[in-house]
Amino acid sequence: MNIYVLMKRTFDTEEKITLKGGKINEDGAEFIINPYDEYAIEEAIQVRDANGGEVTVISVGGEESEKQLRTALAMGADKAVLINTEDDVENADQFTTAKILGEFLKDKDADLIIGGNVAIDGGTGQVGPRVAELLNIPYVTTITKLEINGSSATVTRDVEGDSEIIETSLPLLVTAQQGLNEPRYPSLPGIMKAKKKPLDELELDDLDLDEDDVEAKTKTIEIYLPPKKEAGKVLAGDLNDQVKELVQLLHTEAKVI
Ligand SMILES: Cc1cc2nc3c(=O)[nH]c(=O)nc-3n(C[C@H](O)[C@H](O)[C@H](O)COP(=O)(O)OP(=O)(O)OC[C@H]3O[C@@H](n4cnc5c(N)ncnc54)[C@H](O)[C@@H]3O)c2cc1C
Repeated sequence: MNIYVLMKRTFDTEEKITLKGGKINEDGAEFIINPYDEYAIEEAIQVRDANGGEVTVISVGGEESEKQLRTALAMGADKAVLINTEDDVENADQFTTAKILGEFLKDKDADLIIGGNVAIDGGTGQVGPRVAELLNIPYVTTITKLEINGSSATVTRDVEGDSEIIETSLPLLVTAQQGLNEPRYPSLPGIMKAKKKPLDELELDDLDLDEDDVEAKTKTIEIYLPPKKEAGKVLAGDLNDQVKELVQLLHTEAKVI
């Protein structure tokens, strides 16, 4: 099977977000594979091991993404591709990323494309479905189970705590939800092998695209942090007095009644 994984380099979830010059400050921040994309990589490896074939991990971004691509190779992916947009793209959005991925994938005869359900930084969950639309193939989002039977697939998806089972066919794009699997850590031999695995680097030119073709469709007006949360108030004393005080506070402070 010809399997592709869409992988984004994101902030570490432990990182405290600060702003500098109206932008998210990346100085000294740690970067990781988007956690949902780790499920995608793991699933791709398991599907390959069960059905044969090859796993290629693709990322759109800058040269720094090579580190996360090497980690994916160390986990067990066979090949990696970095589509380096550093010099060509100044303002990107979900359209930009999906368009670039779609152009790369359109002649690859992919049987299965796996992405993350959502990126923990940008967090729109748009890239996967947009890529599937561009390739004109079926897609199922937030999946927690994937069974491949020849050219068809049975997919279980998470629908806000409940499950939905969908029968569909390959080629297929799915996006991974927490619980799909337990992503492996790269082993020492895996890390050694990864150094010799192919990591190709492409630019927009290689995909016959120029900057105008991928120009962002959206514009960020302002980036700001949410207002600081006020400390909670604990009411004490007689229950009747507490209820009276609560009603008064809801009226005078929270102004909700
Ligand atoms: C050169 C460059 C410049 C940018 N400039 C801006 C900017 O000016 N303003 C701004 O707001 N944003 C900017 N971005 C960020 C960009 O908008 C988002 O990275 C991108 O559209 C993904 O959107 P998302 O985070 O909502 O992902 P989601 O749609 O939530 O991601 C879902 C899944 O899609 C896949 N995916 C997402 N991104 C990638 C990727 N890059 N490569 C491979 N797979 C991916 C992953 O599987 C991921 O789990 C820039 C990005 C680049 C590369």
